[in-house]
Amino acid sequence: MENLSPALPSLPSLEPGWVWLTGAGPGDPGLLTLLALRGLGQADVIVYDALVGPEILNLARPGAVLEYAGKRGGKPSAKQPDISRRLVQLARDGKRVLRLKGGDPFVFGRGGEEALTLVEAGVPFRVVPGISAGIGGLAYAGIPLTHRDVNSAVAFVTGHDTNGIVPDSVDWNALARGAPVLVLYMALKHIATIAERLRAAGRRGDEPVAVVSRATTAGQRVLETTLDACAAAVADSGIEPPALVVVGEVVRLRAALDWLGALDGRALVPDPLQRRGRSEAG
Ligand code: SAH
Repeated sequence: MENLSPALPSLPSLEPGWVWLTGAGPGDPGLLTLLALRGLGQADVIVYDALVGPEILNLARPGAVLEYAGKRGGKPSAKQPDISRRLVQLARDGKRVLRLKGGDPFVFGRGGEEALTLVEAGVPFRVVPGISAGIGGLAYAGIPLTHRDVNSAVAFVTGHDTNGIVPDSVDWNALARGAPVLVLYMALKHIATIAERLRAAGRRGDEPVAVVSRATTAGQRVLETTLDACAAAVADSGIEPPALVVVGEVVRLRAALDWLGALDGRALVPDPLQRRGRSEAG
């Protein structure tokens, strides 16, 4: 922390009795914010989720109590009220509480619900945003969320609801028509159904799809496939959650922009979109 000191004096401190509802980013500790790092260095208790890895927890102040509050994928989240109540209790005990969640706390992270409980209980809190997996994870996969002449909109979508099924609250037809690029969280289990719905809504079967697993960690894996082939490709590859599913033409840019792959010797092609145009014309 010391060598960051020019930036740090103006940062707020995590005070006793406060909760910092904080995003830890997608995995790589280098993607933590300065405020998250500050919270790790000051917290008495860190209440963390399954998606927060040991490299990040290792940055906690020695002596900080680490409390696991994870929920495993797809299960009904009956524990959510307990977690919120626990945060209130810790704050009322005068602890400095860091509530650490994967990615950004307000993106499919139920951070809003926890914050509402804090408001109700009169517990003072700060929200520290984090880099959401759908943004940082895609950058580490070499896939831009938007690219000029390719898409001017992108949609973040959850692939399952609180019951663990493909959400009917999502209007798949409207999404298919309105969002040229879809970034799907929690979608691996239901990828076959989701691909079917997008196809039924008029998306092309040869549209590129990428599955990005454990993005930004040492275990990052990326599967490039198509809408028609993605369900079988996921089953065959054994690729595992947490994973993002990205649907859209921007996925083609990975052939040029897989900077992480290039570190391992992948040859990057500078013009993947033109190549596609030529091969379609020919
Ligand atoms: N608040 C988090 C999302 C929580 S929902 C955020 O902003 O990123 C959990 C889902 O996030 C996972 O099912 C997966 O789709 C996605 N996710 C989180 N971390 C990930 C990672 N490192 N790699 C790929 N997907 C990830």
